[in-house]
Amino acid sequence: MPLQPPPIDKLFITAEEAFQALQDHAREEGYALVRARATSYQNNLPRRYDISCVCGNGEYKPKAAGIRKSKTKRTGCPFKMKIVQRKDSGDRWKAGILCGEHNHASGLAVNFPEHRRAALTKEQRNNIEVLLENTSLTARAINEIMKKRHPTILLTEKDIWNIRQKALKKKRWIGAADLDTEVAEALKKAGVL
Ligand SMILES: [Zn+2]
Repeated sequence: MPLQPPPIDKLFITAEEAFQALQDHAREEGYALVRARATSYQNNLPRRYDISCVCGNGEYKPKAAGIRKSKTKRTGCPFKMKIVQRKDSGDRWKAGILCGEHNHASGLAVNFPEHRRAALTKEQRNNIEVLLENTSLTARAINEIMKKRHPTILLTEKDIWNIRQKALKKKRWIGAADLDTEVAEALKKAGVL
């Protein structure tokens, strides 16, 4: 039966590991999770994260993330979990279920950007960048090549466009090192570099 909540008996050294285990489970069950809120700060470090289904409300957006809105598949899903750093477990992280129910059907992993991002290896990303840079192949053609090489890859044409955008940006920054010194100084003063 899909959409089952994950087991919560394990302890993890870091919050990232704990979250990843939940996300891996969610992927198998046909949903995806986001970290919604960090709280219980001690020494500037959170000891608790609230976790929501991506179909729920109130996704946590770091301030630096900009204002671009992603296409939403929110249904107001009530599924909620937490991961907490437990003093009684040697400061290790443990998950807990706050609401184990979803209000939507399960979906394929490829339909969740959260799962696609996590599944793409560094090598695959590099290969895509090389193809973008050195060929005039379309995103669709690159996607087909990647899928032939890696039949289980989770990749969409949109992901390839995003990789292209990021690669272009990177080049602009690397290119800035070639500017002549005076221009570079001026740009630095203006806060552009
Ligand atoms: Zn849900």
